[in-house]
Amino acid sequence: MALTDLAYQRCISPQCGETYGTDEVRVACGKCGDLLDVLYDWNRVKPPTKLSDFEQMWTRRHEPLRFSGVWRFHELLPFAAAQDVVTVGEGQTVLQRADSVAKYVGVNSGGLYLQYEGLNPSGSFKDNGMSAAFTHARVTGAKRAACASTGNTSASLAMYCSVTRLMKAVIFVGSGKIAFGKLSQALDYGALTVQIAGDFDDAMARVKEVSRDLGIYLVNSVNPFRLEGQKTIMYRVLEALRWEIPDWIVVPGGNLGNSSAFGKAFSELLELGLIDRIPRLAVINAAGANTLYELYENRGLRWNGGNGGPCVACDYYKELDREGKKASTIASAIEINRPVNLNKCLRALDICDGVVRQVTDQDIMDAKAQVGAGGIGCEPASAASVAGAKLLREQGVIGADERVVCILTGHLLKDPTATVAYHTTDQDKFNEVLGSRDVKRASFANRAVAVPNDLGEIIKAIQLYS
Ligand SMILES: *Cc1c(COP(=O)(O)O)cnc(C)c1O
Ligand SMILES: [Zn+2]
Repeated sequence: MALTDLAYQRCISPQCGETYGTDEVRVACGKCGDLLDVLYDWNRVKPPTKLSDFEQMWTRRHEPLRFSGVWRFHELLPFAAAQDVVTVGEGQTVLQRADSVAKYVGVNSGGLYLQYEGLNPSGSFKDNGMSAAFTHARVTGAKRAACASTGNTSASLAMYCSVTRLMKAVIFVGSGKIAFGKLSQALDYGALTVQIAGDFDDAMARVKEVSRDLGIYLVNSVNPFRLEGQKTIMYRVLEALRWEIPDWIVVPGGNLGNSSAFGKAFSELLELGLIDRIPRLAVINAAGANTLYELYENRGLRWNGGNGGPCVACDYYKELDREGKKASTIASAIEINRPVNLNKCLRALDICDGVVRQVTDQDIMDAKAQVGAGGIGCEPASAASVAGAKLLREQGVIGADERVVCILTGHLLKDPTATVAYHTTDQDKFNEVLGSRDVKRASFANRAVAVPNDLGEIIKAIQLYS
C-alpha cells in the first residue's frame, strides 16, 4: 500500500503555508486551522504535454484504473500509487447538449450543456471525491470512515464501504430533510447511520469532534483528497468539448467543495500549460441557505490573496446564531449555512473571475421540471445551476451567444418526493408537502390524468390530451 513521494499537503493561507506529508491524516492546518491543499511536484510527475493525450487512456479501459472517470486522469492527482487506488467505476458521466433547456435559460441553441454527475454509481458527483478520499483512507490504514451528510456523501461512502469491504462507514445525518432516495442507500448498503437531533451544520460540527476523538477517517469535503477527485469533473467537461474551454461553469453551492475543486483544477491546468484560459465560474446558492451569496455579493468578502479581511464570515455566523437562523430550502443537498470550504471557494472565485447568485425554491423547482422535460433529470439542488444560469442571462451577465455548462450534481431519483409533489399536488397543499414556504405554483406541472376503468373513456382521454 503506497503513497507516492510526488505530493504533499499545504495550508492554503499564504501567511502560514505550513506543509505536511500526505501520510498525515488531517482536515485542517495544525498551526493556523485553515484548510489544506494537496499539491504536487509537477517537475517530477511529468503529466501529458497536451490534454488530448488522455484520450489514449480510454483505449485501456479494461484496466479498472483507466475505466474510472477519475483515475484515468491519475497523472493530474498522483498522490497514491496506481495499483492502490480504489475505484467502483465512478465518473462514467455524459455532457449533454440540451437545447430546450438552452431556450429556457435564454442562450442560443447549442450553447447550453448539462454535465450529468447523477450517472455516478451512487447517483451523485460525490463518488468522484469519495474514490480519492477513500483511496487516501485506505493507504493510510484507516479501518472506519465517517461523514456528516445531507444524504449524498453518506450514500457514496456507504457504497464504497459495501463494495470494497475495506472500511466500515459511520454516517451522521441531521434529523431534518434527508431525501428518501439517499437515506435508503445508506441503510441498504449497511452503514451505521446516526441521526442527530439538529441540522446539517450541527451534524458537521459533531462528526469533526467524533472523528478526532475516535480516530475515524473523515471524508467530508474538508478532506483535501476529496477535492482532488472532484477536479476530474472539469477534465471530463473539457474532454466532451474536445478540449475547448467553455465560457461558464455553473454549479450549485452547498459546502463549496465542487466550486473549490473546479478552481484548483483550472489553475493547475493553466500552470501546466495544458489550457490557455480559464472559464468563468458561477456558484448558485438557494435563497434559504445563502451564506456565500450574502458574504460575496452583499458584504464584499473576497479572497484578496488570502487576506479575506477581519472575519467578515465570523461576524455573519454570529448574526445567524443571534437570530437563530437555520438554513431552509427544498434543495436539501445545499441546505447549509456554514460552508466548510468557504476560503477555498473564495480563492476559486478569484481564479475564475466568479460570480455568486441566489435562487428561490420556486426558481429551483421550475428549472428542475425543465431539466427533466429536456434531459435525464436531476434532484432539486442540481437544478439551482440551471435556475442560476437563467438569472445570470436575464441580468445580462451571461451572453446569449456564450457556451454554458451547468453541473447536474445528483440524480432525479434521489428525491422522488419533491418531484411527485411538484407534478401532482394541489396548489394550496403544495408547501405542506414540499416543506417549503417558498414555492407558490408548479409552473410546469405534468399532472396525471384520472380516468374511469373503461376502454372508451381511456381512448377519449388519450385523444384529448395528446
Ligand atoms: C453535495 C451536493 C451539492 C453541494 O456541493 P458542494 O460541493 O458541497 O458545494 C450539490 N448538489 C448535490 C446533489 C449534492 O449532493
Ligand atoms: Zn496554516
